[in-house]
Amino acid sequence: MQSLKELYKIGNGPSSSHTMGPKRATEMFKNVYKYADSFKIILYGSLALTGKGHLTDYIIEKTLVGYHTEIIFDTKTKCDVHPNTFDISAYQGGHLLDTWRIYSVGGGTYRIEGNDETFFEDIYPHKNFDEIKAYCKENNLDLYDYACQIEGKEEITQFLKEIWETMKHTIQQGLTETGLIPGKLKLRKRAKEIYSNKLAFETENTKRIRLLSSYAYATSETNASGGVIVTAPTCGACGVLPAVLYYMKEEYHIEEEKIIKAIAVAGIIGNVVKTNASISGAECGCQAEIGTACSMAAGAVAYLFGLEIDRIENSAEVAMEHHLGLTCDPIYGYVQIPCIERNAVAAMRAFDAASLSMILAKYKSIPFDLVVETMYETGKDLSKHYKETSEGGLAKKYCRNKYYNADMVE
Ligand code: SF4
Repeated sequence: MQSLKELYKIGNGPSSSHTMGPKRATEMFKNVYKYADSFKIILYGSLALTGKGHLTDYIIEKTLVGYHTEIIFDTKTKCDVHPNTFDISAYQGGHLLDTWRIYSVGGGTYRIEGNDETFFEDIYPHKNFDEIKAYCKENNLDLYDYACQIEGKEEITQFLKEIWETMKHTIQQGLTETGLIPGKLKLRKRAKEIYSNKLAFETENTKRIRLLSSYAYATSETNASGGVIVTAPTCGACGVLPAVLYYMKEEYHIEEEKIIKAIAVAGIIGNVVKTNASISGAECGCQAEIGTACSMAAGAVAYLFGLEIDRIENSAEVAMEHHLGLTCDPIYGYVQIPCIERNAVAAMRAFDAASLSMILAKYKSIPFDLVVETMYETGKDLSKHYKETSEGGLAKKYCRNKYYNADMVE
C-alpha cells in the first residue's frame, strides 16, 4: 500500500480521474519536455466519453497554457489496460520528441506505461485489512498508531491536519454559496438551503439528516463547481467523509485531534480498497467510489465512537456490502446527478453502518477483505454502460426523456 498522501489529495474538482490525474500527469510530462512547442493529447475510453462533462480537456489546456495544444476524443479505440487512458505527445518544430501512455487510475493517481515503480512506492508492508488487523492486535496499536509507525508520526499528523483544515474550509465555504453549478443541467446549489431549512417539528433524526446532507452537499457542490476539495478517496465521492467528521465535531463535540486520527483510520480503509480492488468509477462503477467513501466514513465514525478494530472493520464492511453493484451513470457526464445527492445518502449510511455495527457487536461478520474482493469482481462484471461512460442508466434515460429539461431540474 502506498502512503496516505497518495490517497488524500487537495485539488480542484470535479473528477479525480478525469481532471486531477490528467492534470498531474500533464504537469509532469510538461516539466520533462519544457522545450517542446506543442502537445497532442488523445483521450480514450471513459476519458473520451465523459471528458467534456468532467472538464478533462479544460484542465489539460489550462495546464499547457502558452503551448499549441491539440486534444482528440477517441471514443472508438478499445482500452484494454484501463478505461481512463490517454496518450500525451510532445513536439518541437514538428518533430515528435516523445509519447507517454497514461492511465488515470482514480483518486488523482496515474501510472505511466512501462514506468510504474519510479513514482509510486508501496510503503506499507501489509496488503489487506486482515494482515493489518493481525499486526495491530499483536502490537497493541490502533489504526492511527499503525499509520504513524509506517509514515512517521510528526509527518503524517501534520499532513492529516492540513487535510482536515481543507475539508472544514470547503464545508464552511460551501454552506454560504448560492447560485448555479456550472454546466447545462443548471443545478442550483442546495447546501445552504438544506442547512438552514430546519423543520418546525424537527426530531433528532431529521436534524441528523439535514446536517449530514448539508455538509455533504457543501463539499460535493464545491467539487462540481471546480472548487478545492480533498479526494476521499476520489473527487466524485469527496463529500462523504468530511460530512460525517464535521457532524461528529459539531454534534458530538469530538476534539479535532481525535478527528485527525479518524482521517488516518479512514485512509487505511480506503488504501485497502485502492490496493486490492479499485476506487475508480470508470473501472468498477460507483460502488468503487461512493462504496469506498462510505466504508472510509463508517470506519471513521466507528473509531470516533470508540469501537475497537473488529467493529471498525465491520462498519466498513457493512457500508461497502450495501453499495455492491452501484452503477456510475452521471447525466451528461457531469459530476452532479446522481453524484451530489449520492454523497449525502452515503454519509447517512456511513453513520448508520457504524451504529448498526455497534448494536450487533457480539456477532461475527463478513471480513472486509472479502467484500472488497467481491466489489472488484462485481465491478469487472458490470457492463461498461455503467462505468462512467454515461451510456446507460440514469444518464441514458434522462437524456432521452423529452419530459425533462434543464429548467425542470433547477
Ligand atoms: S456516479 Fe459515482 S462514480 Fe460516477 S461520477 Fe458520480 S460519484 Fe463518481
